[in-house]
Amino acid sequence: MQNIAELLTRAVGEDRILTNESMSRHTTFRIGGSADIFAMPRTKEEAVEIVQICRKHGTPYYVIGNGSNLLVSDAGYRGVILQLYKNLSEISVEGDTMTVQTGAMLSVIAKRALEHGLTGFEFASGIPGTIGGAVVMNAGAYGGEMKNVIEEVTVLTADGTVETVPATELEFGYRHSVIPKKGWIVLGAKLKLQKGDPGQIGARMEELRQQRVTKQPLDLPSAGSTFKRPEGNFAGKLIMEAGLRGFSVGDAQVSEKHCGFVVNKGGATAEDVYRLIQKVIVRVREHSGIMLEPEVKLLGEFLTE
Ligand SMILES: Cc1cc2nc3c(=O)[nH]c(=O)nc-3n(C[C@H](O)[C@H](O)[C@H](O)COP(=O)(O)OP(=O)(O)OC[C@H]3O[C@@H](n4cnc5c(N)ncnc54)[C@H](O)[C@@H]3O)c2cc1C
Repeated sequence: MQNIAELLTRAVGEDRILTNESMSRHTTFRIGGSADIFAMPRTKEEAVEIVQICRKHGTPYYVIGNGSNLLVSDAGYRGVILQLYKNLSEISVEGDTMTVQTGAMLSVIAKRALEHGLTGFEFASGIPGTIGGAVVMNAGAYGGEMKNVIEEVTVLTADGTVETVPATELEFGYRHSVIPKKGWIVLGAKLKLQKGDPGQIGARMEELRQQRVTKQPLDLPSAGSTFKRPEGNFAGKLIMEAGLRGFSVGDAQVSEKHCGFVVNKGGATAEDVYRLIQKVIVRVREHSGIMLEPEVKLLGEFLTE
């Protein structure tokens, strides 16, 4: 790994490459062991070069954005974490079309849309992720989803070419796209919005912000909704009905405020969160017959009981 760190440092500069970097600093759960190498490219070209070096040397790599839907194991990650975030976050607006780099935060894109009187992105204004992570997850809220606004994405394909893929080929579904299966890395996206009234757009964003503040445990680290919504039901409701409000393993807890969130009360380990998730799945299935499925992505190794 020392050799790879040196090669990457030579390619993109020492301020872009960290070693033994704690992933608790890069996930909203504030949990996770160290990544051997943590790379923060400034440009699309640097991102492509880092991936090429990893591929050439058979070094595992994993892409993250803001780490807001991610649980990294306590043992960390043996390989290179490629963080596509603040350094790759340019946004340009032309008419009703926004062209954004993968690391742009949804909140910042929403603010720019508002400034330009563009409607259609209000639903995403409070989701704390990058557009890259949001496209991969087909993130959604309050009746909207990425599927409705993405026109095309630019990706680095598994064979190392940069391609533009229309949204119709992304196989968007509930919290799903074809991107992970294809091994693509999102580098940017084009969004198609509509002209709207800035007053109404701003008011809708504020209304949704209030709803989040009222209903979600935003004062504690989490990865948002821990479980996918089962068809015709709500994970939070099923968890509450199974008597699990406030249920804990170590410092990981089913939120008292919103049972769909697992929160880190301060000192939770990834193993605490993982075991809590497993126990919730078992208890909800016993109570309702419904099998919950995690929405949060797991990275690294977790112990099973
Ligand atoms: C308080 C809170 C509220 C939330 N509310 C919502 C909500 O309302 N709706 C919702 O859908 N989600 C919500 N989330 C979850 C999360 O914010 C979204 O899933 C978000 O889209 C993830 O973006 P990210 O940049 O943080 O991705 P990460 O967590 O960094 O990554 C998520 C996945 O995408 C992959 N990925 C990230 N970037 C790229 C890229 N450029 N190319 C290829 N793969 C990539 C990663 O490998 C990983 O598998 C919430 C989270 C929190 C903490």
